[in-house]
Amino acid sequence: MQTHVVIIGGGYGGLRVIESLAKHPNITLTLIDKHPYHYLQTEAYGYIAGRFDIRDIAIDLEQWCHGFEKGVSFVHERAHVIDYQSKKLQTDTKEISFDYLVIATGAQTNFFSFIEGLREHSHGIKKLERAYKFRQKFEDLIYKQIQHKIPLQEEINLAIGGAGLSGVEVAAEMANSIHTYAKTIGERTRKIKIHLIDASETILPGMSSFIIKNTHARLQELGVEIHTNTFIASLDKEFIYFKDGSKLHYHFMIFTGGIKAANFTHCIDGTKNKAEQLLPNEYLNIGERSDIFAIGDCVAIRDSKGEILPPTAQVAEKSAEYVAQNILDRLYNKEPKVFDAKVSGVFVALGGNYAVGEMFGFIKVKGYLAFLLKKAITYAYYLGLHLRINTGYKNRIQTMKKRG
Ligand SMILES: Cc1cc2nc3c(=O)[nH]c(=O)nc-3n(C[C@H](O)[C@H](O)[C@H](O)COP(=O)(O)OP(=O)(O)OC[C@H]3O[C@@H](n4cnc5c(N)ncnc54)[C@H](O)[C@@H]3O)c2cc1C
Repeated sequence: MQTHVVIIGGGYGGLRVIESLAKHPNITLTLIDKHPYHYLQTEAYGYIAGRFDIRDIAIDLEQWCHGFEKGVSFVHERAHVIDYQSKKLQTDTKEISFDYLVIATGAQTNFFSFIEGLREHSHGIKKLERAYKFRQKFEDLIYKQIQHKIPLQEEINLAIGGAGLSGVEVAAEMANSIHTYAKTIGERTRKIKIHLIDASETILPGMSSFIIKNTHARLQELGVEIHTNTFIASLDKEFIYFKDGSKLHYHFMIFTGGIKAANFTHCIDGTKNKAEQLLPNEYLNIGERSDIFAIGDCVAIRDSKGEILPPTAQVAEKSAEYVAQNILDRLYNKEPKVFDAKVSGVFVALGGNYAVGEMFGFIKVKGYLAFLLKKAITYAYYLGLHLRINTGYKNRIQTMKKRG
């Protein structure tokens, strides 16, 4: 008898569940996503700054699902409601039955309502369309500088609200592009200033002093203006107003200062935190249902010591691998273990061929070596996706040929 596992969300967590379960002959899998692509958010910084292309950060999910020998189908629809009694999921046009359900719907930018004008005048990069628009704006500015269309005395301020991992990476890569462009297309590009703003005392709050110190130094070297202990009070079309009474004339603002769970969690009963993330039990089950799991950014996941793990692709993948094993244990009548995971390392891309990183708490690297290590990790992920995509492409061509 086949067991049907339904996964909502084709992000880092969702795809890892499928990779982990697809080889089991008694399991069929259905992936549901409101978008037709997998968005590699972790590479968004390079895309925005023009270092990567769209093909480097978006993968077609249908093609990816075709890359499995059998038993993986894709539904390009938004999931709406779970019927717990009948074990069915309602999507835009379908009702899909499941034996096990994995919620992996990720997170969205949290445009805090207490900052007036934030939602109207700033942009998140948790969505591909936003990253695309921001890249266009950035390119447009560079283009205008090449054309000498912006008066020489005019300074253009690009603001990034939130100096966590994503904000820092975007700031560094853009500043590095400006630095590089200044050599090739002229000093005028240096009139584009990157401002990294955070209310905390330091950039990368919560990270180690090694990471913070070296990141700070690199950002300064790239000419990023760092504003810590700086509270954004409000925004209008032209200015960012700070709580201390000062203001900044800005051209464009990205907000990376907070996340909240994707809207799907609204339809789920059970306890949630302020960021609307689900609070699962130690088996990552929701509402004590042993057949419904939640993983990745849409949940607040704790390790065995009760510490909340950061919302990263790494944690999404670890929770996905755990849930896949839990489902297999249940199928084979084994007692599943409780969830436990550690963050094995962190690498921060800091523009060009420079990064800072730490692994297992004691390996600390910076510069080109850290860049190579980060690249190797990204490349391994990317290669896995592309092997699937290539097989998916071949499988589709063969099916089409057979059909004539
Ligand atoms: C710029 C940037 C840099 C980052 N750098 C790093 C890094 O270096 N290392 C790291 O580990 N992490 C990094 N992160 C964080 C990482 O990207 C996230 O933690 C990760 O994407 C979470 O994976 P997920 O599977 O939970 O959700 P996501 O990857 O966000 O995927 C969720 C999926 O669910 C789908 N979905 C949502 N709602 C519905 C619905 N109702 N119906 C159907 N589908 C739905 C979405 O379309 C999406 O495809 C970075 C993030 C950003 C923005």
